[in-house]
Amino acid sequence: MTTNRIVIVGAGAAGVFTAYRIREMYGDAYEVLLFEANDRVGGNTMSATVEYGGKPYNIDCGAQFFYKNPQPSYTALVDQLGLMDSASEVISAPAGFLVWDKQANDQRLWLPSRVIEFLQYDAADWGRLSEFLIYLAYSAELDRSNPSWTLSIDDWFKTLHLLSDDFKEKVIKPFVYQFVSLPYSRIGESSALYATTYFVRNLFGEPGTPDVDTDPPDLPGLPTFQTYQSMIGLDGILKRALEAAGVTPKLKTPVLAVRPDSSGAGGALHVTTKDGVLQADHVVFACDPHKAADIIEAGTSVGGVSTLLPLVTNLRGLEYIPLTIRMQKDGSCWMPPDSDDWEPANTIVDGDDLTFSVWFGRLRPTYGLGKRIPVFKSWGAPNLGPCRHQLLEHSHFIPLPTTTFMALREGLKAWQGTNGMWFAGGWTNWFDSQEAALDSATAIAEALPLPAKPATGAARMIKVQPEAIERNLRRFAERVARKAPKDLQQGLTDVLERVKGEG
Ligand SMILES: Cc1cc2nc3c(=O)[nH]c(=O)nc-3n(C[C@H](O)[C@H](O)[C@H](O)COP(=O)(O)OP(=O)(O)OC[C@H]3O[C@@H](n4cnc5c(N)ncnc54)[C@H](O)[C@@H]3O)c2cc1C
Repeated sequence: MTTNRIVIVGAGAAGVFTAYRIREMYGDAYEVLLFEANDRVGGNTMSATVEYGGKPYNIDCGAQFFYKNPQPSYTALVDQLGLMDSASEVISAPAGFLVWDKQANDQRLWLPSRVIEFLQYDAADWGRLSEFLIYLAYSAELDRSNPSWTLSIDDWFKTLHLLSDDFKEKVIKPFVYQFVSLPYSRIGESSALYATTYFVRNLFGEPGTPDVDTDPPDLPGLPTFQTYQSMIGLDGILKRALEAAGVTPKLKTPVLAVRPDSSGAGGALHVTTKDGVLQADHVVFACDPHKAADIIEAGTSVGGVSTLLPLVTNLRGLEYIPLTIRMQKDGSCWMPPDSDDWEPANTIVDGDDLTFSVWFGRLRPTYGLGKRIPVFKSWGAPNLGPCRHQLLEHSHFIPLPTTTFMALREGLKAWQGTNGMWFAGGWTNWFDSQEAALDSATAIAEALPLPAKPATGAARMIKVQPEAIERNLRRFAERVARKAPKDLQQGLTDVLERVKGEG
């Protein structure tokens, strides 16, 4: 029998954060063993370096964006690591969004990165923005009413009477592709709350301008939306967290099997790696659900607990797929032809095919005389073909957040802690993100039996104030409407009232 040993399976965000939280909350009271199958730390966070004008640029090849609120837990951790105030490590950057119709060679939706750029809008742009604001007002209402995660996009759409079907199908479905990753034909199956909560909370959940300031400054450089970017990559932040925790991961050492000692009474777990079998009191599966199912099933096949088979079935039922990502340099294969149309986040629609591309140019400092780096990250459904600008190709495993996925994810909660086995990961709660990975790690650390040090592990995802979201959304609409022709302004600023008036 071992003493307070915890094995963590996987050194992605959830595994690293679990190690960090345990050290923060319990010091050395637990022995922490972190196993990683890969030859690097990071999982779905991974970065590479490119050079322009003699300057090295770190570019995120997987996860990349974070926002201050309501991801307080993650930003507090980045702050705790001393990275938040250093421009060489974390910067804020303006963000805009584009939905582009490849066949029509035209925009379906354009949200520029800077408020001043709304002056370039034509009548069609204002019409689409008006519908998009209504969509945002509906999304804020959805987030406030907090329905079941199993309400589907298609069922939710049926209730949105102020939006045309054309806009829902041709603009909103492609727009939410970046959040749900499902092919166009299946986007209606995704959880409506999942598809909307990240965008609404991140962009409008910040405290914003205080109510007393009825006329906030409208500076030329004012960003439309603001995101944070790590200059050392999100994987760089994970490496700093591990250093701070003093935990050294065992790389290239997959966990092969986990077997509870007896029929559910707790006690030691037997953990098999290529180096042999060791015992642990707790195992945190911070790998994807299918790998966790394989590992548990491998354990049951060598005399493990058959009562775990429903757990294996639950884990396998979660749709979790490899997503191929193509990084491009010196040019792009999936962007509109004219660079004036580019934004940091771009969805290209080609019939029923969807491609999402991040352009790093506006998210990194310029080089030379104000030049923006021509570096891009793309993925799509169906998978993208070859590209002559390709820098590197890799694949990450991602959840497909259908309503079925949400129901199974809910079902997994009952298994947390059974036989000392826990499940952490971006996929286990809220929206797949650094915040969700950290929150899952914190929840497990808090549930461990030893007494935690006082005032540790406290930073958790906050309950967002719907009033703050509505106030910030209203402010956003007002700020943008000031750039619109006079006769359109009222129609742009009263969307929240119109949506509320409906109910
Ligand atoms: C393309 C893309 C873009 C994204 N963009 C953002 C974003 O902008 N902002 C954001 O916050 N989030 C983003 N995300 C989500 C974010 O990446 C995830 O929420 C988070 O990184 C997941 O971390 P995780 O630890 O749960 O899983 P993973 O990162 O998948 O880590 C699991 C780890 O387990 C390891 N493993 C698997 N099997 C075994 C085994 N048998 N033994 C040992 N180790 C094993 C794997 O090698 C891996 O390292 C994005 C994700 C993707 C794919």
